[in-house]
Amino acid sequence: MSRSLKSFAGTFAFHPRCKTIKLTHLCFADDLMIFCKGDLSSVRIICDCIQGFSNTSGLHANSGKLAIYLAGVDSFIKEDLRSTSQFTLGTLPFKYLGVPLSSKRFSIADCEKLADMMIKRISSWQAKHLSYAARLQLINSVLMGISSYWCQISILPKRVINIGNFICRSFLWFGVSYSHKPGNISWKEVCTPKKESLWVRWVHGVYTKGGRWEIFNAPATASWIIKKLCAGGSWHTLTTQHKIHWRHLVWNMISIPKTRFLCWLVAGHRLKTKEKLYQLGVVVDDVCPLCGLYPETHNHLFFNCPFSRSCVEAVKLCIGITLKPIARMDFQKRSIPKTKQHVFSSP
Ligand SMILES: [Zn+2]
Repeated sequence: MSRSLKSFAGTFAFHPRCKTIKLTHLCFADDLMIFCKGDLSSVRIICDCIQGFSNTSGLHANSGKLAIYLAGVDSFIKEDLRSTSQFTLGTLPFKYLGVPLSSKRFSIADCEKLADMMIKRISSWQAKHLSYAARLQLINSVLMGISSYWCQISILPKRVINIGNFICRSFLWFGVSYSHKPGNISWKEVCTPKKESLWVRWVHGVYTKGGRWEIFNAPATASWIIKKLCAGGSWHTLTTQHKIHWRHLVWNMISIPKTRFLCWLVAGHRLKTKEKLYQLGVVVDDVCPLCGLYPETHNHLFFNCPFSRSCVEAVKLCIGITLKPIARMDFQKRSIPKTKQHVFSSP
């Protein structure tokens, strides 16, 4: 295409927005988009190039899928160009690589496809047989990947982002794409970063230099986003998150993802233990089914239950380690920043 069009240099007119970089076309797999000025001679040249390619290679364009998109030209010119090219007159937005292309900002209706794609993916997975950690992996790698792909192309309406979050939340806790039931942990807490982002650390290092954002005034040389954050009072987005003292115990590279997720739920006391179910009236008693002696609480289940302890002792004996028995895990939901606390403590 590029070589053919070069031979028509002087006659072929570039699209006004592609003239600077002399862009004539974009292609991916068997999809091809050609750009030119909306005049008769340029469109004729393109049609001749397509015909020339067909004559040479024997490959023919699918006439049912050919469309011409015009903007900023009169209606009679539109009709001239359409009849010359014999293409269907298309209208924006149209879909390319699964995403609607439009000259305007995406509307909620344009983004329906995004939710459909996410729901379609979820329905193709046997979610009931997946652990929380497996679902989390699929959310991070697939569902968020779809959403991020769209975000790269345009600014999505807030409602669309909320719908995407709703689908992810429903899938994580219930394995479905639509559920209004409350999850074990709030979505806001689920989305809390495990560690401070590099960008936040960079901003603190370059601008505040250890000072407080509340009294920070953006210098004239600061970037627009820093000025906007300071002017709009949104500096709190850059404040350092309170560090949780058990974060390394839960989110480490030693344990397997399934265990990490379970440990995170235990840390927040969010497992549906019999003690909780009894309080809700779901079960008739709160006695631990493993030992049958005490109420099944988080600390009992993992640290105090004779059965759990015997399991731990057996494992320790098997791998040949001798550690002091753990009585309870001193988890706190909200913790204190930078305090050296003992994670494990005796009763
Ligand atoms: Zn027990």
